[in-house]
Amino acid sequence: MQIKLPKKALVTGAAGFLGSHLCRRLLDDGYEVTAVDNLFTGTRRNIYPLLENRRFQFVLHDITLPFWGQFDEIYNLACPASPFHYQHNPVETIKTSVLGIINMLELALKTKAKILQASTSEVYGDPLVHPQTETYWGNVNTIGIRSCYDEGKRCAETLMADFRREWGVDARIVRIFNTYGPNMHPKDGRVISNFIMQALHNEDITLFGDGLQTRSFQYCDDLIEAMRRYMDKPRAEIDAFFSTRRLGVPVINTGNPGEYTIKQLAEATLKLIPESKSRLVYLPLPADDPKRRKPDIALATELLGWAPKVPLAEGLEKTIGYFRGL
Ligand code: NAD
Ligand code: UDP
Repeated sequence: MQIKLPKKALVTGAAGFLGSHLCRRLLDDGYEVTAVDNLFTGTRRNIYPLLENRRFQFVLHDITLPFWGQFDEIYNLACPASPFHYQHNPVETIKTSVLGIINMLELALKTKAKILQASTSEVYGDPLVHPQTETYWGNVNTIGIRSCYDEGKRCAETLMADFRREWGVDARIVRIFNTYGPNMHPKDGRVISNFIMQALHNEDITLFGDGLQTRSFQYCDDLIEAMRRYMDKPRAEIDAFFSTRRLGVPVINTGNPGEYTIKQLAEATLKLIPESKSRLVYLPLPADDPKRRKPDIALATELLGWAPKVPLAEGLEKTIGYFRGL
């Protein structure tokens, strides 16, 4: 009788918000999961429930240093994602993106693993094209306060493309638009966690600028579904699909195309927390804050038969429930 061994996945940034959801999903899908994190913005709390599973192991490790192991799939999520955190130590942020992906790509090359890079809508910067398609090259400041994140992620995409072209690594890029849900850090600094925590504690809701800048908010489960479908696609199908497109390299947007002003988001949050006594206050807009953002998801829909399912009000309600329970 032949024993079927579980597939092995490496997840970096596993103790973070998205990493912890991905680890859970991979375990549910039967994988053996090695979770790596340096706990910069992540927390052990996110992965405590997973430690009971014999197919899960956690390794405290910084991905700017090499990591060794035999894996079928590598998911590179390590990187602080909130402007508040990535600007706290910008040099460390860019090192995590650039040295981190080099280490992960070398591991993928040596072990013939598939690798997925968690890229970002920030590669489009303050976009001049709306909604943003994967063929748009972006409008990014190289020397601003967001550049450590944006340019680090852009360089990581370049490395993914070059390892693929030069050495045939099965490298797949996903550009994630603002994603939210349970397991976000309550002091993460991103807009949804800020607004919910402020509303729950009757503190002022801090709108930056006039609050008329827009974002598109994707619930975490929708993103994880897209990532899993993308990685499950056989290489031949991925190659055939992208070779007929100008992109050449596998890169897809994932996000929820519903577009809201930040003021609308504040109002929607307060509506779901009716007991809150918070009021809206306006603070200066941080430098280089993108004015509009909305994903074009036609490519992901065609390739994966995927579209986000969770509307904003439903996702906010689940997230508020999580923060109430902390
Ligand atoms: P997060 O901050 O909750 O998670 C990031 C994790 O990476 C944390 O656990 C942190 O401790 C870990 N980490 C940071 N530097 C590391 C290093 N050098 N070595 C090892 N671990 C390190 O953020 P998130 O929202 O879960 O984001 C996960 C990934 O998705 C990030 O790469 C982010 O850029 C990308 N992304 C997220 C969003 C979003 O809206 N959530 C949007 C676009 C892209
Ligand atoms: N923002 C805000 N108040 C906050 C936090 C953020 O008005 O307390 C705004 C921020 O200026 C940006 C948007 O909300 O326009 C989304 O910010 P976030 O930090 O969540 O992510 P970004 O998309 O800017 O990376």
